[in-house]
Amino acid sequence: MQPLPYFQFRDFPAGLEAQVQQALAEAVAAKQYVLGPQVQAFEGEFARFIGAGSAVGVGNGYDALVIALKALGIGPGDEVVLPVHTFIATVNAVLQVGAKPVLAEPDRYTYNLTADTAARHLSPRTKAVLPVHLYGQVCEMDELLQVAQLQGIKVLEDVAQAHGATYKSRLAGSFGDAAAFSFYPTKNLGAVGDAGAVVSSDASVAAFARKYRNYGEAQKYRSEQVGVNSRLDELQAAVLRVKLPHLQALNTERQRLAHVYLQELQQTGDIILPVSVPGCGHVYHIFNIRTRHRDALQVYLQEQGIGAAVHYPVPVHQQPAYTFLGYKASDFPVAEELANTSLSLPLFPGLTELEQERVLEAVKRFCRKR
Ligand SMILES: *Cc1c(COP(=O)(O)O)cnc(C)c1O
Repeated sequence: MQPLPYFQFRDFPAGLEAQVQQALAEAVAAKQYVLGPQVQAFEGEFARFIGAGSAVGVGNGYDALVIALKALGIGPGDEVVLPVHTFIATVNAVLQVGAKPVLAEPDRYTYNLTADTAARHLSPRTKAVLPVHLYGQVCEMDELLQVAQLQGIKVLEDVAQAHGATYKSRLAGSFGDAAAFSFYPTKNLGAVGDAGAVVSSDASVAAFARKYRNYGEAQKYRSEQVGVNSRLDELQAAVLRVKLPHLQALNTERQRLAHVYLQELQQTGDIILPVSVPGCGHVYHIFNIRTRHRDALQVYLQEQGIGAAVHYPVPVHQQPAYTFLGYKASDFPVAEELANTSLSLPLFPGLTELEQERVLEAVKRFCRKR
C-alpha cells in the first residue's frame, strides 16, 4: 500500500500550484528581487485581511517574534509570560532579546495559555504576555487582554499556527499590541520557503519593525536605529499573494477534515479529542488526539504506512538546552502529560476521503485490539 505521510503538499484548491508557478515566473521576470512591489502589495493585503493597521514582511516566524518583542520595547531585565507547551521558537525569541521567559501551564482542555494560568506568573518585572494560538485555536483573548490591561503589560500573539482563525468574529493577530506570523511552507498560509510577518495596529511598532528588518534604514544608507537583515523575500511575497485569497478555502477544508475525525473517533478507546471553546475559532493547523497508548499507536500506524507526528515530545523546560532556566521535571504536570499522550493525525488540504478513511480504520483497529 502507498505510504500516507503525516503531511504532503497537494494541489489544493486544484490549480493553485500552477498559479504559484506563474507568480514566481512573473516575479523573477520583473527583476525587483528585494523589497519590491510584491512585498509592498502583500503587506497591504495581509494587514487588511487580518484587520490590523500594518503588516511588515520579515524573513521567518522566529524573526517576526524577535522583531515584535524589540518593537514593544522588551529586553534585558524584563519577563515575558508564555506557555510551556509550544514550539521552541517562542521561547527562543524571548531569550534572543535578552528577556526572561517565564513558562506557564497550558489549559488542560484547549492546550492554550489562559488568563488564569498566565496570572499566576506575573511579577513586577513582567512586561508582556505571549499567547500562542496553538494547533490553530485562538486563545481566550478577552480574559488575557483584561489581565494585560490591568497589569499594564503588552500582549504579543504568536499566530504561526492560526492564520485566518477567528475569535468572536475577529481574526487572530488583531488582538495584541503586535502579532508574529510564520509562513513556513507547512503552515496554514505557507510560502515556498521561509517567510514571516509582524502585524500591528500601533504605528510605532510597525515603523520600528519596518526599519529593523532592513538594517535600521528608513532610506538607503541612513540607519536611524540598529537593525538586522530579515526582509521578506520578494518571490515569497508573490507566492503569498496568490495563496492569501485561498486561505479561507484551505481552512474550511481543514475544518471539514477535522469534523470527520471528531465524528468518527468519538468513544474510540481512551482517545481524547480536541476541544474547541465556543467563540475560539479553530483552523486545525494540527489535529491532535491524546491516548495513554500514544507510542504504540504511532508505531502501529507506521506499520500500516501512515505517518503521525508528536507535537511536542519534550516540553520546553525538559529540553537539554534549556535546563539553565531552572525548572524541575514536575513543574508542569499538564504539559508533561500532553508531551506523553499527544499524537497528531494526518490532516492537510487535499487529503482524500479514502486516505482519511484509512487513518480512521487503522486507529479504530488499534483501539479494538487493546
Ligand atoms: C512555526 C512556528 C514558529 C516559527 O516559525 P518559523 O517561520 O519556522 O521561524 C513560531 N511559533 C510557533 C508556535 C510555530 O509553530
